[in-house]
Amino acid sequence: MHPLLLVWMAVAAFTPPPALAQNAAPGRDTILRDQLKADLYFLAGDAMRGRLTGSAEYYLAADWVQSRFERLGLATSVQRFDLVRARLANGNSLAVTTGRGVRRDGRVREDFHPQIFSPAAEASGSVVFAGYGIRAPKLNWIDYQEADVKGRIVLLLDGDPGADDPASVFDGVVSSDWGTSLRKVQAAQAAGAKAVLVVNGRAEANRSGFAASSRGVWPDTPAHLQSYTLASYADKLHIPAVQISPALAELLLGGPLSKWREESEKPRGKAVALDGEVRLRTAVERQIVEDRNIIATIEGSDPTLRAEAVLVTAHYDHNGADGAQIYNGADDNGSGTVALLEIAEAYALAAAAGRKPKRTVIFAAWGSEERCCGPLLGAWAWTENPGWPLAQTVAVLNMDMIGRSEEVPVGGGARFRGLAEQTAASNANRFNLIGWSYSPELGRVVEQAAPGLDLQPLRRYDNNRSNLLRRSDQWPFLQRGVPAVWFHTGLHADYHTTFDRPERIDYGKMERVARLVHQVSWTLANQAGRPKMLDPRPVPKLEQ
Ligand SMILES: [Zn+2]
Repeated sequence: MHPLLLVWMAVAAFTPPPALAQNAAPGRDTILRDQLKADLYFLAGDAMRGRLTGSAEYYLAADWVQSRFERLGLATSVQRFDLVRARLANGNSLAVTTGRGVRRDGRVREDFHPQIFSPAAEASGSVVFAGYGIRAPKLNWIDYQEADVKGRIVLLLDGDPGADDPASVFDGVVSSDWGTSLRKVQAAQAAGAKAVLVVNGRAEANRSGFAASSRGVWPDTPAHLQSYTLASYADKLHIPAVQISPALAELLLGGPLSKWREESEKPRGKAVALDGEVRLRTAVERQIVEDRNIIATIEGSDPTLRAEAVLVTAHYDHNGADGAQIYNGADDNGSGTVALLEIAEAYALAAAAGRKPKRTVIFAAWGSEERCCGPLLGAWAWTENPGWPLAQTVAVLNMDMIGRSEEVPVGGGARFRGLAEQTAASNANRFNLIGWSYSPELGRVVEQAAPGLDLQPLRRYDNNRSNLLRRSDQWPFLQRGVPAVWFHTGLHADYHTTFDRPERIDYGKMERVARLVHQVSWTLANQAGRPKMLDPRPVPKLEQ
């Protein structure tokens, strides 16, 4: 554990509670379980067929949220953004010529494939190896100088350095945003690279797996769930970006990948020129899919503080239907969406009775949280083109799955990786507060309000192999310096199955969580100061 972390934890542990209790939020009693239930039976009913991005029912769900906001008399707007869906076309090629003159023609989906976000493009020339391909001065980590990669093809490792190290500055055991291939390719292009080759440095033990994983990315027939990239990212990329097999990488590196990876577990400082050349061409066809975030606003009453906003958020999409199999997504995330409507109603009714918050409160229903790769597309779209300045955003309160109690079965398997076995009954009055470690002050506001609703926040997943920290819409905001937390009643056996249905929801608990988020938003919108963001944050100790 880093010594600074010890000091920080000691300070956090002994901070006295504030003298004043939070002022009760007006309109709380209008947040009612029966209304949540009625809305959820509609939104997560079979007729909505799982609200899959791009489907008719998805746009209907968006329209419904919009009309409900409008009916409350709130200033409502639609943030439109485009997604790009790619299909593999004919003509992908990649040829490696080593320094010793050996030539190998890679086969698409056997030895290489275009990244899902790659444009159709081509490049040829010499190659440099840039370790993990990360330039993060804030974290004291530089893998290459911009001049090293200018005009070159860059070979880099995917993922984070120290991926299994709980004390890693790259978010401990959570996969960091720095480690995503999209961010690395964006950075390499900005530094003048001609193309990027990405290899999984940890796959050397499983070389035969490359073709299988390649077919997972680019299946023979379109999968039920398709992959997307934000058009605002895709439009700016013009260099080809491919994933290559470890075997092909070793041909370029002239030796075992494991050695190069081990040497890359420290910042490299400089890229290394490799012998040999690469000629590659990516061929993909792109299709645009329209998407929407639905936004409603209560303007603050204080002439100064109204320039600052609190965001209350939930994603409204889910995983659609596959024939008669309907992924209703009642908990995920019909629950958060209908709670968002109830909280908005509480504000609208209070405002009509003359009680408005000092700061502005914005309600955002995000699109396409579930869609790969990477997900959280609606929230990322907002951070790319913010409807409210991020610097003037006091906090983001995200609700995603707030209608159940965490339940991890014995031998739960990969879906529950990193989570301890536990029963729903043991978590009946608990929820997970995720993202608190970026702003312990925000965490304390939640902690002070929770007992009044007979709820106990658990801070257990900010450094956990489940990767929960980055699995909902608070994540893009945390990456952009905005305090943000996720209220989450936990995974359970019905998560992402056809059993996530409205009749399995605990509406009494959902009412309490919705009232809590309402209270926290009110406190943040009215208190004197705003919660501080730790950036970079001290990574908390590994949580199990
Ligand atoms: Zn979700």
